[in-house]
Amino acid sequence: EPLLELTDVTKTFPNGTRALRGVSLRVAPGTVHGLVGANGAGKSTLIKVIAGVHPPTTGTLTWRGIGRTWRDPGAARRAGLATIHQHIPLVPALSVLENVFLDRGGFRRTPAGRRAEFADLVDRLGYPVDPDALVGDLPIGARQMVAILQALAAGAELVVMDEPTASLSEGERRIVFDAVRRLSGQGTAFLYISHFLDEILELTGHVTVLRDGRVVLDDPTAAVDEEI
Ligand code: ADP
Ligand code: ADP
Repeated sequence: EPLLELTDVTKTFPNGTRALRGVSLRVAPGTVHGLVGANGAGKSTLIKVIAGVHPPTTGTLTWRGIGRTWRDPGAARRAGLATIHQHIPLVPALSVLENVFLDRGGFRRTPAGRRAEFADLVDRLGYPVDPDALVGDLPIGARQMVAILQALAAGAELVVMDEPTASLSEGERRIVFDAVRRLSGQGTAFLYISHFLDEILELTGHVTVLRDGRVVLDDPTAAVDEEI
């Protein structure tokens, strides 16, 4: 059963722009699903519908088999859906540890419990992250890791990554890819947004290609040369 399923989703903005014109996609638990398209194809709008920022105009969204209309982004987050944007809203003056648990309103655990949980999350991630480093001192690639840890700490079952590698070096991109692969192997699903089909195909064969608000391809391994 899919974790997330969209069926015939449309989004028409008040100014008449038809940003989504009937998009269907399914993301299974523990899989990486790519979403590719040029500027203006509708990627951001689709992510906003998934994350509860915009209600769809028509069409349905199911989460773990249940039809949902998110009241707001908080409702989607509480249900287990995290979104990581290119510009990550971490607090630079706070430590990694503080940022990772920031979202969890009121630090329920003891300091020792938080450190133990942090160690578990880092273990799942498979990449060493210093809990005491100040986020403001970290390179962008490491901030992506902190954002992923934050999503895991919040109990995310699906992590939407919005062009996470756009401003990363090749080495940093590899690290993000390795983490995504490793976590998906442990059961966390990812929806990975990119301008580049080649990049996505390094990561997964499950890809939805959008153009002008429509799905133009959902099995690129069958036609990798399709012009997007
Ligand atoms: P992408 O993320 O693939 O670049 P977007 O989802 O941002 O595409 O945009 C899809 C279309 O919807 C574009 O034509 C864009 O101008 C339009 N659009 C996006 N947001 C809004 C909005 N809030 N109001 C009106 N039109 C919008
Ligand atoms: P909301 O707050 O409901 O998400 P907004 O109209 O405030 O919608 O716009 C959300 C985002 O979409 C903003 O980043 C805005 O710049 C962008 N946007 C708004 N209108 C357009 C448009 N016509 N084309 C592209 N992007 C747009």
